[in-house]
Amino acid sequence: MEGKILVTGGLGYIGSHTVVELINKGYEPLIIDNLSNSTIEVLERIEKITGKRPEFQQVEMRDKEQLQEVFWSNNQKIAGVIHFAAVLLVGESVEQPLHYYYNNLASTINLLECMKEFEVKPIVFSSSCTVYGNPDELPVTENTSVKPAVSPYGNTKKICEDILKDASHAHDINVISLRYFNPIGAHESALIGEFQQGPPHHLVPYITETARGKRKKLGIFGNDWNTTDGTCVRDYIHVVDLANAHIFALKSIVESNDHDDFKVYNIGSGQGYSVLEMVNSFKKTTGVDVPYEFAPRRAGDVEAVYADITKATKELGWKPEKTLDDMLLSAWEWENALAKEGK
Ligand code: UDP
Repeated sequence: MEGKILVTGGLGYIGSHTVVELINKGYEPLIIDNLSNSTIEVLERIEKITGKRPEFQQVEMRDKEQLQEVFWSNNQKIAGVIHFAAVLLVGESVEQPLHYYYNNLASTINLLECMKEFEVKPIVFSSSCTVYGNPDELPVTENTSVKPAVSPYGNTKKICEDILKDASHAHDINVISLRYFNPIGAHESALIGEFQQGPPHHLVPYITETARGKRKKLGIFGNDWNTTDGTCVRDYIHVVDLANAHIFALKSIVESNDHDDFKVYNIGSGQGYSVLEMVNSFKKTTGVDVPYEFAPRRAGDVEAVYADITKATKELGWKPEKTLDDMLLSAWEWENALAKEGK
């Protein structure tokens, strides 16, 4: 693929892992990020891993002129876009819905306006399995019905998919929307991973923080769900596998001759694990115990969701390479790296 790959939100958790994979495979990423949930230090870490410092511009995508400037100064040079930049905390989105809608929708619309103006066609969008809500069937396929979102955050993913679909038809833009299941783990160097401010927002960082003694106990949200052991079931995917899915998706858009210009793919491991299975696997893999207690169900939680990934494996040629052990071990190594840095 000739030209630069514009990576929005390229210093975030999934973005930074994708940039590393892009560089390792010989692509030329151009990162834009507003640094609202990341730091410039990630750029240095990417350089340490890959030996190359990717191009970076601090850009506020809600400001269309700033974004246009990026396209102007790289006229004819941007071959495709991978769009991660978004605010992404479910709980916060309930408290600040307008911020969530404005940020995630305005930046996506501005991006599409620029793509239209500068005739850049391929875009890979980061969507989420949250669009399936409490799914009607398991495993979830891309044909499983999309549900009204339980949170403003989830709704922004659904609305962005609709916007992308309409824009793709009207403006000759080619879209692949990747519906992520639960990304976990970190790069094997333990130099990049999920940096978070304050308490974690997801299960695995809670497990690793408990394992290192930063918290006393993991609270497991509910043991009376209708699952084999009563705890919720999710589909966990290694962040590096997920990163690579974006590159397969982009290549498939560029190389494809068909004219279906909006496609969606589930990106997970295709396996469901309960919370208790995750805790027990963590102990087995790392040898470190995770004290836990059962706590009340968390509002808005879905009982079980895991993916059928046949479509992605067949059409994109992508498949997950990492095991659950790889995921948990890399998450643990990342936690230890954070601890060493006093984080
Ligand atoms: N979970 C839990 N304790 C925690 C954090 C999460 O029991 O401290 C459970 C949560 O109820 C869900 C699963 O772990 O069943 C995955 O939660 P996460 O927030 O990581 O992802 P999501 O709910 O978005 O799938």
